[in-house]
Amino acid sequence: MFDDRSRKYSNQYVPLNPVDINLYEPFIGKEALEQIKFLAKPLYKKVWANVNSTFVGGGVAEMLQSVIPFVRGLGIDGRWFVVEGSDDFFTVTKKFHNLLQGIDQPITLEEIFHAYLDTIDENTKNVKVVGHMVTVHDPQPAAIIMNGNVYGHILWRCHIDTSNASRRIWRFLLPYINQFEGAIFTAPEFAKNNLQIPTYEVCPSIDPLRKKNKHRSRKEALKVLEDVFNEYNIDPARPIVLAVSRYDIHKNQVGIIKAFKLMKQKAARGKHPILVIMGNSATDDPEGSKIYEEVKAAAGDDKDIYLLLNVKNNDEVVGALMSIADCFVHISTKEGFGLVVTEAMWQGTPVIGSKVGGIPKQVMHGSNGFLVAPYEFEQIAKGMQTFIEDKNLRDEFGKSAREHVRQNFLLPHMVTKELILMRYHLEIDNKIPDFRMNKLTYKEISQALYGRTVWPFSTNDLKKRIEAIWEGLDLECSDPK
Ligand code: UDP
Repeated sequence: MFDDRSRKYSNQYVPLNPVDINLYEPFIGKEALEQIKFLAKPLYKKVWANVNSTFVGGGVAEMLQSVIPFVRGLGIDGRWFVVEGSDDFFTVTKKFHNLLQGIDQPITLEEIFHAYLDTIDENTKNVKVVGHMVTVHDPQPAAIIMNGNVYGHILWRCHIDTSNASRRIWRFLLPYINQFEGAIFTAPEFAKNNLQIPTYEVCPSIDPLRKKNKHRSRKEALKVLEDVFNEYNIDPARPIVLAVSRYDIHKNQVGIIKAFKLMKQKAARGKHPILVIMGNSATDDPEGSKIYEEVKAAAGDDKDIYLLLNVKNNDEVVGALMSIADCFVHISTKEGFGLVVTEAMWQGTPVIGSKVGGIPKQVMHGSNGFLVAPYEFEQIAKGMQTFIEDKNLRDEFGKSAREHVRQNFLLPHMVTKELILMRYHLEIDNKIPDFRMNKLTYKEISQALYGRTVWPFSTNDLKKRIEAIWEGLDLECSDPK
């Protein structure tokens, strides 16, 4: 159906088949589905290219695996490119990631110029990424914007919690980011100062059709988990406190262990809860094994703690574990959004989450879970204990958690916003999307003053805006006579 010429390029192209989007009707209803089809109509056969830095592991890869088939199902030519890099490249981009999330660490000019920019040059040397719209995800591939080999309306999608980004890294990235036509963030507090481009608020989402997000009865879930439970010698009859994430410093798995050990001393007699921490490492994350060792050391010889690493049949196991767990714990110190929170809530499991990044958008304290500070171990332990001992509360919160996800964080909700953005930037629609976070940007002001070929607002709107701009400008020149 689609022209896959992009396959010949040296950065990797991920081919994925379209899905029948009518399969989403049971989850979102007919009306929402019709709206998506309507939005997609003028985008038929238009190319939407996405660029990121890994096929597997982490939330971005997770989402693109569903976004591409979904938009292809709508007739849009969704494409997915993955930049290739050496270990050095991923070491430096991991530093970017940490610095953007507020962890200070040394970074050298050699790393920036050689490991980072040279790799970006290499990736774009013989490669053209062409799309009516191109979305570049996260800082790893951000610099490709300057190489002149990416064509189209290009947006930057930031999935990271940049609210406390290090000034050094932000100053380095800002000139690149300001070259994009717009930037998408998960929450308004992530959009930093000095962005001269339009910024939009879009939340990530999960795909209800994925194996991971399928609903299973307890019996079905235990069948899926049979092998892994036998391998690790896990007794399914015991209450489970669950955590799933990459082994990463910000995920605070050591903190979960501390809280669990505290809780064990207090839990009602005869309950014998266990803690299962499941984790993997993304190919663009070189720090995973170091953190895994730290988590292992924190667990020590505690027989009630199970650390699962890169398990077989990952997706089904994640979904099944989430569905039978008594509670899910995600107390990151930094978190762009936390898709694992969404996934656990979708499985009807209440979440103890930290008041960090995108987690409070999902967890509502006292109605579908508990919000805590990431190092409030007493509180976290208390939350675990409550869910283990109070089945009624667990069921009530779990039901409300699932409904919150159904209404807000399923794939079609996110794609609806992406399509609105595509229509706006391709100038199919003139109205500024209502999830835009900033007003007129520098670029738009200069375009209003000096003109451009196509203006995204109506003529009346344009007139009003130019007047507003003139009023707002502190002009030193005298009035023209
Ligand atoms: N994940 C997984 N297996 C694991 C650990 C994580 O499949 O052992 C998945 C998880 O289900 C989620 C994604 O990886 O879909 C992690 O996304 P999230 O937004 O939670 O965190 P990120 O890794 O992007 O920081």
